[in-house]
Parts: sequence; C-alpha cells; structure tokens
Amino acid sequence: LIQLSVPLNFIGSIYREIRQGLTDIEQLFDLLDARQEVTDRLDAKPLAVGVGSVAFRDVHFAYDPNRPILKGISFDVPAGKTVAIVGPSGAGKSTISRLLFRFYDVQSGAVLVDGQDVRDVTQESLRAAIGMVPQDTVLFNDTIAYNIRYGRPGASEEEVKRAAELAQIGPFIEHLPDGYRALVGERGLKLSGGEKQRVAIARTILKAPPILILDEATSALDTHTEQEIQAALDLVSRDRTTIVIAHRLSTVISADEIIVLKDGVIAERGTHAALLREHGLYASMWDRQREATEAEERLRIARESD
Ligand code: ATP
Repeated sequence: LIQLSVPLNFIGSIYREIRQGLTDIEQLFDLLDARQEVTDRLDAKPLAVGVGSVAFRDVHFAYDPNRPILKGISFDVPAGKTVAIVGPSGAGKSTISRLLFRFYDVQSGAVLVDGQDVRDVTQESLRAAIGMVPQDTVLFNDTIAYNIRYGRPGASEEEVKRAAELAQIGPFIEHLPDGYRALVGERGLKLSGGEKQRVAIARTILKAPPILILDEATSALDTHTEQEIQAALDLVSRDRTTIVIAHRLSTVISADEIIVLKDGVIAERGTHAALLREHGLYASMWDRQREATEAEERLRIARESD
C-alpha cells in the first residue's frame, strides 16, 4: 500500500524520495497517480481539528465509472472510538482509507472530518491530522533514526528513542552494531515485515495524529511478533479515533463497531458479539479463520512432539 505518513508538500517530498531511492517504485506511481485526482479549492481553509471524528455519508465511489466500488457507504467513527472494516479481498476496504485521505474524490455523498467536508479543507492540513500505519512501510535509504523521525522531522533524539521504545522496536535497534545510526532500506539493513511495521508505528507515535488508520498486514507474522505489534498498536490507538482495515479477525474483537463490506455495500455491522449471533458473513469468516488457526496450532504441537 502507499506510504501515507509522508508530510505533504508533495512534489518536494517525491523528488526527495526519488533521490533517496524508494524501495518500491510502483508505490511512487501510485502516489503520483493519486495526486492528480484532487486539487485544493481556491478558498480551501485549513482543517479545524477538533475531537477527531470521522463520518462517511452515503459515499459512492468508482475508480472506473463502469465499475462502482462503493455504493452508498455510511458510518461514523466518534472521537476516540475504533471502527474495524472487514470483508473479502477487493471489497473496497483500502479505498475507504484513500477517500479519507482524499487521494480521490467521492462521486456522491461526503467524507467528513470533525464535521468538515474533506473537499473544503486543504489537503496538507487534512493529511497532517491523519496517521497511517500501512501494510508495507517504505523505508528510506538512510539511518533508522531518520526513518523514525520522518513522523515529525523536528523531533529530538530522546523523542525518537522514546517512540521506538513505545513501538516495541527499541531493544532491536539498541542491539544493532550502529544502533540508531544503522543504515536501513535497499542499500542498508533489510528489516522484516514486522520490524518495518514497528518503524511505522514509531513514526506515527511521533506524529501523534488525532485520527489513525491501521492497515493490517495480510502476511502471517509469528505469534510473538504479532503480540508485540498488537501491543504497540493498542498503545498508539488508545484514545485516538481509529479505523482498522482488518485482515486478522483477532484484532477486531474489541472494536466499537465492525463494518462488513461486500459488493460495495455494508452487508453487516455491529460489535463482534452481535455479529456472531447473526450467523451471517462475519460469523462464517470468523469460523473459517478460527479453523485455520486451530489447524496451525495442531500442526505446531505435532511438530514440537516429533
Ligand atoms: P484487499 O483486502 O485485497 O486489500 P480491499 O478490500 O482493500 O482489498 P481495495 O484496495 O479497496 O480492496 O480495492 C477495491 C477494488 O478497487 C478492487 O477491485 C481493486 O482492483 C480496485 N482498485 C483499487 N485501486 C484501484 C485503482 N487505482 N484503479 C482502479 N481500480 C482500483
């Protein structure tokens, strides 16, 4: 997914990214593509950040006019609450986060942040208010400290370290031969998916946005790493308005509301317990995932007893 936590005086930062070598050139094109879709209104004002509530009002959206992706989506994320979005691959989950960032404009309906239509505010102020922990974090070919500080370029060394510790990546960095000065990225140390995600969490802790989007990794992480990441994510999303694009159902149990997207509409919505009682799509997704987890567990036990 696109690395969205970049500050957004965009062209400048894109050139810097080219110079520093993006690890995934496709992501750059995604960014450039997305850029052309929207422009600030002449009278656009900075977002007046309040409590950080988010609302989608009857949103219709298509990348290609012949193929609608969202067909009338409405939901609210009250300040400080967590809404999880689940649904089959291609259902439009990530599209919702792109619309909140206003990488695209809706065809009808509206996306509101603290009651303000995202089309009426400057993109820079909107994106400053939203943090993103993406599935795949793009690292710059620079030091690990630089990569973390990217969340807030003015942050002190102490603040960078504190953020790394909160993101559960402090001890890992301390053990690198060059510590915080270790070079990472394509021409440096290659970090694992879980380590990169913790760098993204540390960036977000420094950025401290009122609104947070977590795009969970689809790739399986080992149980220990997953628990560490979950602990870091719980910490960063506490008291923040959070939208989780959830691939692992285990992380949605505690969401205030779960939205099940299918075929462009909200097929089901409610808390985990309420949705299980409905015995619908969510309940069957849950059963399938539980069976898969149990099968893995049996395999692990069998392997250990060999
Ligand atoms: P997954 O769980 O697999 O990540 P998702 O629910 O997040 O899927 P989206 O990424 O929102 O799905 O994509 C929804 C649909 O829109 C998909 O069919 C996808 O092919 C299409 N789509 C996504 N981005 C674009 C784009 N830039 N141009 C055209 N179509 C796109």
